[in-house]
Amino acid sequence: MSALLEVTDLKVHFPVRRGVLMRQVGSVKAVDGVSFAVGKGETLGLVGESGCGKSTTARAILRLIPATGGSAKLEGTELLSLRGGKLRAKRRDMQMVFQDPYASLNPRMTVFDILAEPLIVHGVAKGKTELEGRVQKLMSQVGLSPAYMRRYPHEFSGGQRQRIGIARAVALKPKLVLLDEPVSALDVSIQAQILNLLVDLQEQLGLTYVFVAHDLAVVRHVCKSIAVMYLGRIVERTTTERLFKAPKHPYTQALLSAIPIPDPVREKKRRRLVLSGEVPSPLNPPPGCHFHTRCPVAVDKCKKEVPRLEPVEDGHMVSCHVVKDRGGLAPDLMSDLG
Ligand code: SF4
Repeated sequence: MSALLEVTDLKVHFPVRRGVLMRQVGSVKAVDGVSFAVGKGETLGLVGESGCGKSTTARAILRLIPATGGSAKLEGTELLSLRGGKLRAKRRDMQMVFQDPYASLNPRMTVFDILAEPLIVHGVAKGKTELEGRVQKLMSQVGLSPAYMRRYPHEFSGGQRQRIGIARAVALKPKLVLLDEPVSALDVSIQAQILNLLVDLQEQLGLTYVFVAHDLAVVRHVCKSIAVMYLGRIVERTTTERLFKAPKHPYTQALLSAIPIPDPVREKKRRRLVLSGEVPSPLNPPPGCHFHTRCPVAVDKCKKEVPRLEPVEDGHMVSCHVVKDRGGLAPDLMSDLG
């Protein structure tokens, strides 16, 4: 299947300026050479700790922030060089659902105004009756009663507000939706409902998702494949099934070992691979493999040479010197983990 979205060597560097003349003294490499592809109707999870560049990647693809280099193609059309009317027209095909549903909804607009706005801007529906019909249908699609059309965002719960955010994102039947931590601000009891809604809408509307999350457990059941990011780079990329069954990168192994197991007997035996230290600053990342300051199996080479993201098996890419030197075998960190 050809990819709907193809991202190649995407870079987002932010200049750091100091002094009276605001001279550039360095740059924060928030995204530093990220590549992946997502097939039509599929979901790719982009996972990593806060500050790893996953949200920046999503925003750069949507052109909400400028990319420094690389390419992002939607159905073969280069998004990063689009300007003016062509960019506005393309925006219809790509939408975003934000983490904080309250902050992303204008508190002075009713649900009707919020959902009718994109329909008016893109000339999809005209006239009060047609607009009301479209908004009512959208509200029903996301599980909200159309009777609440004239209410304001503050009159809804967090989960309901995220449903409004999702309705706004799918109003124009986009091809691609970037979900930026769409459930992390919600109660655990509500998270599953929103995830189910996203899966249902994907089936109904044939949507393609890039799902940004810090929590691997959240993306497990909705993503076909997962890319794990650390300090602006992808360190492992493969199918969700393979990632959970046989993670190879030490960082992925540590992330997975932090997920609680629902079975109390196995949970009791679960051993956590605790990483020492904090994620280093992207302003001054460690040389070589960015992960070497926290990696339990780092070797000398890790401090000097940047490991390339390379296939170790069919459809399984890893960026790690030790995995490569072991012929694609993972370092033995998880053998005792539940
Ligand atoms: Fe650890 Fe070295 Fe592999 Fe980086 S390249 S993950 S430091 S072993």
